[in-house]
Amino acid sequence: MTGKVNQEYEVIIIGGGPAGLTAGLYTSRARLSSLLIERGLVGGQIADAELVENYPGFAQGISGLELGQSMHQQATKYGLNTVIAEATGIELKGEKKVVKTSKGNFTTKAVIIASGSERRKLGIPGEEKLTGRGVSYCATCDAPFFKEKPVVVVGGGDAAITETLYLVKFASRVIVIHRRDQLRASRILEEKALAEPKMEFLWNSVVEAVEGEDVVKRLSLRQVITGKKSTLDVAGVFIAIGLKPSTDYLKGVLPLDEAGYIITNDKMETEIPGIFAAGDIRLNSARQAITAAGDGATAAIFAEKFLSR
Ligand SMILES: Cc1cc2nc3c(=O)[nH]c(=O)nc-3n(C[C@H](O)[C@H](O)[C@H](O)COP(=O)(O)OP(=O)(O)OC[C@H]3O[C@@H](n4cnc5c(N)ncnc54)[C@H](O)[C@@H]3O)c2cc1C
Repeated sequence: MTGKVNQEYEVIIIGGGPAGLTAGLYTSRARLSSLLIERGLVGGQIADAELVENYPGFAQGISGLELGQSMHQQATKYGLNTVIAEATGIELKGEKKVVKTSKGNFTTKAVIIASGSERRKLGIPGEEKLTGRGVSYCATCDAPFFKEKPVVVVGGGDAAITETLYLVKFASRVIVIHRRDQLRASRILEEKALAEPKMEFLWNSVVEAVEGEDVVKRLSLRQVITGKKSTLDVAGVFIAIGLKPSTDYLKGVLPLDEAGYIITNDKMETEIPGIFAAGDIRLNSARQAITAAGDGATAAIFAEKFLSR
């Protein structure tokens, strides 16, 4: 990793998912000194996708991890610097912006915010204590630990069903627990899910607690219509109840909508000159790898124009 603390860059990109990596490719190819700040694994959320079938150019599909790593290699080839650190704030100093991170401060004239989204938690007893011990937010990462064991997926949207379809390759049973009486997933996923013999559905139900001393043993459930309580013995629970934007570090810096998303115009400009936002973090983003990459390219092109003014 090549980012240097206290050095000034022409562009700083926060977040190494498809939006940030594409922005970094464009700014680096435009010969702007560019720093990517990523707190985890480069690739972002797409790195969790077992197979990406809708990113153009890969007729047989591509693993999300490979797609993310390849985007990073491509941008690095043109000079993108990377530092693994968590961005904790942005301070405006006249025309300059100081990006504060867990590894020190970096100064720049233009920032592209591409910190995407993170999984929502249920906030129920046992969830935090048993995370990594049967509670998971990523089937691609953890499904192999549950070979021939019963697991639950909580949620009913695209993310939940994608997780479920991956889990059926490993688990003995996959029980989807959803608070409504029908799925909210896209039709193609729903059709696949309903045709899968290992899958079962518990409709109109919520998980109230995860139980177990060292590992998950059972869930406490409540039927939302009848109020009837029950327990279910399982080895794992995968929580896929949606996303929240990773913008906590931007409170007080930028106006955010009530859910925490950033408002931009079609040039990806925010209200603050020189600060752009791209990808899932934007209000009304389509939340796809390709749209995030497109936003990243747009943000980079307009950041370059901003810097050449
Ligand atoms: C399991 C799964 C399967 C998916 N499958 C598909 C698919 O098949 N096709 C498709 O088009 N889309 C798919 N998606 C959606 C797609 O991955 C996202 O739309 C896309 O990754 C959004 O890109 P992004 O760059 O905006 O944000 P993200 O991918 O969320 O990347 C943001 C990055 O910013 C980093 N970050 C966050 N906060 C900070 C901080 N404070 N400091 C430093 N770094 C920070 C994060 O670690 C992350 O790496 C899938 C998502 C998931 C979870």
